[in-house]
Amino acid sequence: MSDDKCLRCGQCCYMPDAAGNMTATPCRYLRFNGDGTTFCAIYENRIGTRLAPNVVCGLRSRDRFDYEGCPYNTGAKPVYRVGRNGVRRIFTAGPPPDCH
Ligand code: SF4
Ligand code: SF4
Repeated sequence: MSDDKCLRCGQCCYMPDAAGNMTATPCRYLRFNGDGTTFCAIYENRIGTRLAPNVVCGLRSRDRFDYEGCPYNTGAKPVYRVGRNGVRRIFTAGPPPDCH
């Protein structure tokens, strides 16, 4: 998958709980820029890195969720708004909250 369209909102880099539900806890490798964008501290080596006993970093296309405003949304998965302030299921496709 090309990363060209990524808006760096970081929503796909939050951790699921033991039941697989998204939480407001960011991956320990997610870094936050002052402008609200994010980046991965181990980007070149991220794929396959174990993040929790039940979580390995993988391709965005394999994620079980879609995220508000993400250009890679499929339309076939539930859409969530994810951030440090919380997680919410949404039903509209606006811009991601941390990208301006
Ligand atoms: S949710 Fe989409 S736009 Fe946001 S960081 Fe992940 S791939 Fe990029
Ligand atoms: S390791 Fe994976 S989930 Fe964690 S910040 Fe990097 S790309 Fe996101």
